[in-house]
Amino acid sequence: MSSTPQVHISEVGPRDGLQSVKATMPTAHKCRWISALAASGLREIEVGSFVPAHLLPQMADVAEVVRHARTLPGLTVMALVPNRRGAEAALAAGVHKLTLPVSASEAHSLANVRKTREQMVDELRSVVALRNELAPGVPVEVGLSTAFGCTLQGAVAEDEVIRLALACVQAGVDEVGLSDTTGMANPAQVRRLFTRLRAELGERAGAAHMHNTRGLGLANCLAAFDVGVRSFDSSLGGLGGCPYAPGASGNVVTEDLVFMFEAMGVGTGLDIQQLIAAREPLKAGLPGEPVYGMTPEAGLPKGWRA
Ligand code: ZN
Repeated sequence: MSSTPQVHISEVGPRDGLQSVKATMPTAHKCRWISALAASGLREIEVGSFVPAHLLPQMADVAEVVRHARTLPGLTVMALVPNRRGAEAALAAGVHKLTLPVSASEAHSLANVRKTREQMVDELRSVVALRNELAPGVPVEVGLSTAFGCTLQGAVAEDEVIRLALACVQAGVDEVGLSDTTGMANPAQVRRLFTRLRAELGERAGAAHMHNTRGLGLANCLAAFDVGVRSFDSSLGGLGGCPYAPGASGNVVTEDLVFMFEAMGVGTGLDIQQLIAAREPLKAGLPGEPVYGMTPEAGLPKGWRA
């Protein structure tokens, strides 16, 4: 049984998680895992990224994975695309929603996509034009990466984050969220930045995408919730890790995030037992890879409603 959703949880493990680990999950396992995720009630899954296979061999089968995910009823199939070429391939494969990473830090932008932030905004404009022409019903979302700090340049000015978010909206994107790519955010900062984002962007203010690198993932999600954010990215088993922080999980753990909200009486629409069960196909597809999560380890408390 699952509750009426009051928050929207978007599962990003098959993209953010799988592209951060060295091993490649075989296609059949990816499909099994995504089916198990959808069975828990997840209505949106980021299933992969459309990037050249020589850069990310883990994502070489993304079109096939999209084809499978599209057969799951009621599921919004989302994919990450870094540019227009990726967007063309993603739309041809039939994704329901596109997400683009735009770095708030100039240093990260150059390192990650070899483009300045301004060049990325130009790329966005081009992706939006393509979307308008080929698939007007497909939302284009931006996650502003390194919005809370950057491993290369350190602090990122909050004014610059907001300025860039507004530039993305002017480029025609439907939603702009904030990503703590490097796990540097703290709850006070999250409250401040999301309050400003929501004031400036209104209904185009998007999801909180938090990493758990330093253990603050849930605290940061709660801080965002407290200032009105209702859309969250997370990954099953906290898959992903961080090359700069050995032993740290990647994204905030979906199972723990759902437990937190449900325990507070905030409906997620998800069945936590089924979510926990979805760890099995993940583990089977990535033998030996660490899988995180406090709730699955501890079990659900006595008297927890089914
Ligand atoms: Zn991430």
